[in-house]
Amino acid sequence: MADSDLEKSFLTLKQTIPLMLKHNISAIPTNYALWYTYVANESAELKASLDDVLANNVQLSEAKTKDLYRTYLAETEEVSAWELRQSLEAMLLELSQSLKDTQSETTSFKNIMDNCVDDLVKVEREGLSIDEVMALVRNLVKDTQNIRRSTISFNAALTEAQSEIETLRAQLEQSQHEALFDSLTGLCNRRYFDEELATQSLKPNLFLLLVDLDHFKKVNDTYGHVMGDLVLKATARKLQATCRDGAQAFRFGGEEFAVIIPNSSFARARGIAESMRKAVEKIRVKDKRSGEILGDIAASFGVAELTKGMNPLALIEKADKQLYEAKRLGRNRVMPMS
Ligand code: GH3
Ligand code: MG
Ligand code: MG
Repeated sequence: MADSDLEKSFLTLKQTIPLMLKHNISAIPTNYALWYTYVANESAELKASLDDVLANNVQLSEAKTKDLYRTYLAETEEVSAWELRQSLEAMLLELSQSLKDTQSETTSFKNIMDNCVDDLVKVEREGLSIDEVMALVRNLVKDTQNIRRSTISFNAALTEAQSEIETLRAQLEQSQHEALFDSLTGLCNRRYFDEELATQSLKPNLFLLLVDLDHFKKVNDTYGHVMGDLVLKATARKLQATCRDGAQAFRFGGEEFAVIIPNSSFARARGIAESMRKAVEKIRVKDKRSGEILGDIAASFGVAELTKGMNPLALIEKADKQLYEAKRLGRNRVMPMS
């Protein structure tokens, strides 16, 4: 039998099973043989009879099936047995292929396959009748259903594994997020700042602001740490909201913040710092327990420009010196003046 014939008979078998399922035809050997021959279109009379049955949506009785079988198939059993064997072999091949695809090479399935192949060899060697071949088909279909069930549970396991991977991925994303963001204020953290500054410092016209809340220890001492935290959060929000021209705010540590301003000028960087200073002055935090409103928040700012040959650390030191100047001159100001 040529390869194309083999392929044709396999295709026939593949069409037969869904057709039988669609018309609720029970999976007994006689039916398989009947509907296989119908799909293969080997007998014009059988096709006409069954077309008639399908067109009128008549339920085929067992007697009618047997009748059709005897009339159209009894004599053709030799041909059909040969074709069926070829189809079954092709089907086994395809099953083993799809199983490899799903990587579910269970030993039980391997045994089923081996048995089927043994049985098929018997068909040829011992010249089994069509009924016996059909018994093999029935077994194969039953086994295939088992395989289908195991594939379903395999798929369920796969889905579960996928959802576990998804959870792990989310957790990883979360921890990566935590590694780069400050949990209290939600701003990017010091680690993020170091990475960002290293990247940005390769470009010219980069400015850095260092921001430090004034007398923050007093806020904690007077109103408690919880209120202190609220002030830090409010400050972060103000700094973030005032960022423009590509500026990015970070929590540098404690009550200190940093702002990276790329592609800017001193006047613009200073302008951003001045806007931020004014925004911090406007912060009002309400103490929920006493109802008291806490104002008088202020911060000092140091501005520095990254000049040629300067590394990120030198830029931080330069901004820190200006911040120190701002503190020394009375706080709540931006340095240098010009
Ligand atoms: P100066 O104007 O000189 O900067 O005075 P300061 O009080 O702000 O400076 P100091 O360095 O003496 O105090 C900083 C305070 O910030 C001390 C520390 O407890 C507080 N602090 C740092 N991190 C946090 C935080 O996450 N939450 C709260 N509530 N306080 C913090
Ligand atoms: Mg400080
Ligand atoms: Mg301070």
